Parts: sequence; structure tokens; C-alpha cells
Amino acid sequence: MFCIKCGKPATIGYLCKECFADGKSLFTPKDFTLTVCPRCTTDKEEAVRKAALDAVKVKIASMRVKIVGSAATVDVEAEGKLTNGLTKRERKELHVRIKEKLCDRCSQISGNYHEGVIQARGPNREKIFEAVRAALPARAITGIARRAEGCDVRVVKKGEAGKVAKALSSKYDVIRSYKLAGEKKGKKLYRSVYAIR
Ligand SMILES: [Zn+2]
Ligand SMILES: [Zn+2]
Repeated sequence: MFCIKCGKPATIGYLCKECFADGKSLFTPKDFTLTVCPRCTTDKEEAVRKAALDAVKVKIASMRVKIVGSAATVDVEAEGKLTNGLTKRERKELHVRIKEKLCDRCSQISGNYHEGVIQARGPNREKIFEAVRAALPARAITGIARRAEGCDVRVVKKGEAGKVAKALSSKYDVIRSYKLAGEKKGKKLYRSVYAIR
């Protein structure tokens, strides 16, 4: 029996190994749209690469990303086993449309949204202020207000403000209070205020 495609000895039905593998596909990449935040996505290429890895459910041998404007081309080379155990390498192209939109967090920050306030007070207020700033990533802080009695640091998430206050409580006195910040759908929203001295 000879391969009906190339004439070499046939090993799988009417085909030789190579022709059998040629006719099988390891994966079918699906094009997609990726939304990235223009403010906090620092590496667009890396974001595309990660999303493409998730989209292509196959072992990747190599991946090359090329971005032109809002379109990315991903050159994917996959390696895998076919149903009969043959290993195959296959190369395909995937197209990704990149859309830019501020993420929730960044749009909250640009609106000066904050759930927590840390107040650096007392004789150590400068030290406390520096410690708070060092403990929080810049994106977690929406604003800093300097007052005669010390600095107020506005923090986007309650949880982040709480964590920093807790960490500093081993060295300083922390007093927690709540301040009414507004209402949302009939529910009162409170801001956590941590006075540290
Ligand atoms: Zn053949
Ligand atoms: Zn963002």
C-alpha cells in the first residue's frame, strides 16, 4: 500500500505519516478584541501575549507579537501530539484588535474617588506620611492634602488603607473613624478615616 498523496509507503490508512500529519490541525486560533487601560497597562505587548496564550489552548513553542496602532498580529507556533501520537509543529497567525478604555480603578482615580483617608498627625507626622506613601503604590492614592496639623492621604480602596494602618499600628497610635461620604442607591456610603500619630 502506498500513500495516495505522495506515493511513499502508507502507514496510516491510505496515507504516510507526513501526509497524515499535514492534514491534521493542532489548533484553530480565534481572533479577538482586547481591552487595555491606557493608564495602567504598562506593557501592551505583554498584555496581548497573555491574552493570546489564554485564547490558544495548545502548547506554545514560540510566539511573536507585532503591534501596529490598534491592531496586533500574533505569530504562534504550537507543538503537540496528534491523536495517533505523532508530534506536530504548526504555525498560525492570530489577529487581535486593541481597544483602549480606562479601567474601573483608573476612572475612579481620575474622579478623585476614595474610600479611605489616612491622616498623618502628631510630632511624627512627616515620618508617618513617608511610611504611608512608601507602603502604597502610586495608583492607590488619589490625592494628598497638606494641612497645618499634618497630611491627609486619600486612598482608593478601603482595604488598602486598612492594611497600611494596621502595619503602622505596631509603631504608632491609630484611631479609626467613619465619615459619611455620600449615598448610592439609597445606601449610605462611609469612608474609613485612620488618624495616625
Ligand atoms: Zn504521503
Ligand atoms: Zn487602569
